[in-house]
Amino acid sequence: MKNVNHRNKTSRLARVLIGVSIVLTTALFFVAVEIDDLLRENHLNEVRADSTVNLIEVREHIEESIFGHFLLLQKVTTYVEENPDATQEEFSAYISTLDYLPEEVINFATARDLVVDMVYPVEGNESVLGFDYRSNPDQRPGIERSIENRRATVVGPIDLVQGGKGFIFRQPVYVNDPSSETGKRLWGIVSIVAEHDAFLDVTGLNDMRDEFDILITSDPLYAGRERVVLGSPEIANQNPINLELEFPTGHWEVAAIPAGGWPTNSPTYVKDRILLGFGSAVIIGLVLLVATLAVLQRRAQVRLTEAIEAMDGGFAMFDHKGRLVAFNAKYMEMYAVSSERIREGARFEDIIRLGVQNGQHPDAIGREEKWIHKRLESFFGPDTEFEQELSNGRYLLASDRALSDGGRLCVRTDVTQLKQAVDQAEAASRAKSEFIDTLSHELRTPITVILGLSSLGKNFETLGMTKTLREKLDDPEVEIDEIKDAVSVLVKHFTDTMEKQERSAKHLHGLVEDMIDFAKIESRKLAVRPETVDIVDLVSSVTDQIRIKAEEKGLAFKVEAEKGEVFCDQLRTTQILLNLVGNAIKFTETGGIEMKAWREGDSAIFEVSDSGPGIPTADQKRIFNAFEQLESSNVRRHSGIGLGLAISRTLADAQNGSLHVDSEPGKGSTFTLRLPSNERHGSARDYGAHANRLDSAA
Ligand code: ADP
Repeated sequence: MKNVNHRNKTSRLARVLIGVSIVLTTALFFVAVEIDDLLRENHLNEVRADSTVNLIEVREHIEESIFGHFLLLQKVTTYVEENPDATQEEFSAYISTLDYLPEEVINFATARDLVVDMVYPVEGNESVLGFDYRSNPDQRPGIERSIENRRATVVGPIDLVQGGKGFIFRQPVYVNDPSSETGKRLWGIVSIVAEHDAFLDVTGLNDMRDEFDILITSDPLYAGRERVVLGSPEIANQNPINLELEFPTGHWEVAAIPAGGWPTNSPTYVKDRILLGFGSAVIIGLVLLVATLAVLQRRAQVRLTEAIEAMDGGFAMFDHKGRLVAFNAKYMEMYAVSSERIREGARFEDIIRLGVQNGQHPDAIGREEKWIHKRLESFFGPDTEFEQELSNGRYLLASDRALSDGGRLCVRTDVTQLKQAVDQAEAASRAKSEFIDTLSHELRTPITVILGLSSLGKNFETLGMTKTLREKLDDPEVEIDEIKDAVSVLVKHFTDTMEKQERSAKHLHGLVEDMIDFAKIESRKLAVRPETVDIVDLVSSVTDQIRIKAEEKGLAFKVEAEKGEVFCDQLRTTQILLNLVGNAIKFTETGGIEMKAWREGDSAIFEVSDSGPGIPTADQKRIFNAFEQLESSNVRRHSGIGLGLAISRTLADAQNGSLHVDSEPGKGSTFTLRLPSNERHGSARDYGAHANRLDSAA
């Protein structure tokens, strides 16, 4: 049972721990995933921020570079505006004088009325001359919008007329025309063509591609059909960083992501995840440890409480200030009078005060404050052990011990039974020595009488009356009547002596019979043989034997017996009744004795009443114990050894009957013997302690 319990508790602990682990692991897993996401996002944000800063730096360089091309275009435009009729030679001469001729520039060109009329350098670009912009569907819309808006543009990449790809910077040129409404008229277009790859190199756009995957789209206003300047349109869908490349006359939109795409994890993600896992494991371990300790502590506490409760005695623990910390139900039960104060945290002083107030301690009555003061002194003093008497008649063995933290441990053991046993043993021992005194007195008295009278008989010859008789017999003058008188005196003396001897011998016999009966009872050898007996006959036999004694003592002896039967051992019942009537005569000095007998239901009742001294209630139980007498041996006035009632009750029990006394001091006593009236009830035996023993012996 204990093992099963232990196993149950262990598996309950295991279940609790598994439950806690599952919940905790799940929670920590989600937290870890969240932290991992945050770390990744954080890294992503850092990368985005760094990339944005890098892009902005690169952008500035690109913008500067492209701005340079627009400046160059502006210079050439200004020249044409000022020299609208310049020849190819003049134009070439002018261009060659420019101190800044970027190497990526393939050519400079002018298109008067949108047909290319001058180009620099001419060599290699001859094919461009005569090219009509309006005939080129790719370039025409851009040019038209440029003219419309009167702004410089850059377009590309574009398939060049002279072959290859390039970017073209164009600006419409207006010259003064007084005939026009605005005072200006469109002269044509000035353009600079930059070779595609070289342009990307020079502007730094290529460098940008080392670090980023980019998509550059041109201003839709000036773009041709193809808006993509550079890169893959795919980039637009990959959450790129968006920037604008600003030119004086428009802009390109840049979308960029780090080369190879956005990172999926932070570079330290392996280390981070190991740390998260390790941290989670430590947390789970700690929580499990704490949970295990909590469960074990709880279990230990329960065990301790159960142990304290299971204790046979009262248990209480107080702290160093005398406040109740723990106690068991037994403690509360023992001090039931002060139980309403026996609560955790209650002060020892308050508890005993209530006890004293409610009269719990008989030794405190009349000196309450002094008692409390002394009790507190001993409680807070060195370890003590003492006997405590309570007003409910119980005795406690109290032990107060000091604990290392200054608290007190109180253990109470109920020693009432032990104390009663000791009292009984002491009483028994007292009764025994009294019995020995009584017995020696009771035996010695008749023996002394018998011995005295025997010695008298032995010295018959020396008796005065014997001598007188002889003298009279020897004297022939003495009359026969005188001799007769002397013989009569002698015979009377002899008869008296014999009677005294007989009385003493009978008394001795009675004592010995009682002792034999008692010995039989003790050795379980006393047997009863019940039979149906006539009540009147039984009562007559008793009264015939004892009436004379009452009369001798001058006591009235009244007898009333109703007709009926009793199922009993005649000899033993007579013995009981003789004992009861004998006691009544013995202890009654004046008044009388009454004996009644009648049938009542299934019982026959025999009642012996007297007008004697009576028996105090406290002693009424005791007189049925062997050797118990109410007169102490040194003031005894009556004979007897205290076995009569003990034997009588045992005999009554053995016959399935009972023997009780009802008495009041000064008002006499009534002993009632109740026996079964017929065999049916007589055989339904329910013997007392002695009777059982007798029964088994029979
Ligand atoms: P014994 O008569 O030999 O002393 P018992 O067992 O018959 O022993 O009686 C025990 C005691 O009971 C007596 O010593 C006496 O003190 C008390 N007792 C018995 N019968 C009476 C009585 N009728 N009146 C007063 N006391 C009695």
